[in-house]
Amino acid sequence: MCGGQLTGQMQSWYQDLLEDRLTHCGHSLDAVFRLTADRSNPLVALKRSTQNRGPIGDRTIMKTLLLLVLSMVAAAREATAQEDAQCVRERAAMVETIRAYARSDASVLGQQGLSERVLEAMGQTKRHLFIPERSCSIAYADRPIPIGHGQTISQPFIVALMTQLAEVASDHVVLEVGTGSGYQAAILAHLARKVCTIEIIPPLAEAAAKALRDLAYDNVSVRLGDGYGGWPECGPFDAIVVTAALGELPPPLIEQLKVGGRLVMPVGPAYTTQNLTVVEKIDPGKTTTRAVALVRFVPFTRSQN
Ligand code: SAH
Repeated sequence: MCGGQLTGQMQSWYQDLLEDRLTHCGHSLDAVFRLTADRSNPLVALKRSTQNRGPIGDRTIMKTLLLLVLSMVAAAREATAQEDAQCVRERAAMVETIRAYARSDASVLGQQGLSERVLEAMGQTKRHLFIPERSCSIAYADRPIPIGHGQTISQPFIVALMTQLAEVASDHVVLEVGTGSGYQAAILAHLARKVCTIEIIPPLAEAAAKALRDLAYDNVSVRLGDGYGGWPECGPFDAIVVTAALGELPPPLIEQLKVGGRLVMPVGPAYTTQNLTVVEKIDPGKTTTRAVALVRFVPFTRSQN
C-alpha cells in the first residue's frame, strides 16, 4: 500500500480527498502542501493533518483508514486464494501419485488397489495444516515429514495403504495409536463414524488436538498417554491403526478389536525395517495375521508408569 503503490482508482480517490479537504475544511495552504508532498504515504499524511482537523477531517480520516484496512484485507484474501489454488493442485497431484504407485505395486494391495473412498479422503484432507511448515510444496510430496520431538508424519502412500488395509466403513469406530500430527486421524475421520487417537508426547497431542479442532473434525477424540493399553471406554473397535513400530502385538489392542475387525501395525524392531502387518479377529479368541510390506516407522515407546 505505502511507498507509491496505490492503484489508479485509489490515487484518484485520494486526489478527491485532498481537494475536499482544501475546499471544505479551511486548512492552511502549508498543511495542504505537506499533505500533497506526502501523498505517496497516506499514513504520514494522515498523522500530520490531524493537527488541524475538524469534524469533517475526522470523517475523512476514518474513510482513509477504512480504505486502508479494506485494501489490506483484499490483498490478504488474494494471497490466500492463490495459495489455496496451489495447495488444491498439489494435493490432486499427490493423489494421482498415490494411485499410480498403488497400481504399479499390485503385490501389496491386490488388483483392486486403493478404493476411491480412501483416495477421496486423501484428496480432501489438508495435510499442509498438520505440519509445522504449513507449506503445500512440502506437504504434498510423497515423503515423510518431521513434526518435531523426533517424530515424523508418514509418507502419504503409507497413510493411504494403512487406511485401505483397515477397511474402514462409515459406521465404524476406529482407534489410532500414535496421533503425531493428527493427519492420519483426520483421514480416518473422513471415513469412520468415530475416531479415538492416543499420543504419548504431550506437545504433539496438544498440537494435533488443536489442528483437528480448528478444522472442525468433531468425530475425533485425542487422548494423551501410552496407547499400549488401548482405550477400552472408546471401543470396541472395528479397526485399529498403530503408527509406531513394536516387536509384538499388544494384547489389549487385540482384546479391544471386534470380531471381524482389523489391526494394522508395523511389527518389528526399532530403527530398522518392520513388517506392515494386518491382524484380523475372526473369532473372540482367534486371529489371522499377514505381513503386507516392508516399512520403516518410528519406535513405539512405553510410558514409565
Ligand atoms: N500418525 C501420525 C504419525 C505417527 S508418528 C500422523 O499422522 O502424523 C508415531 C507417533 O506415535 C509419534 O507421535 C509417537 O510419539 C507416537 N507414539 C509412540 N509410542 C506411543 C505410545 N506408546 N502410545 C501413543 N503414542 C505413541
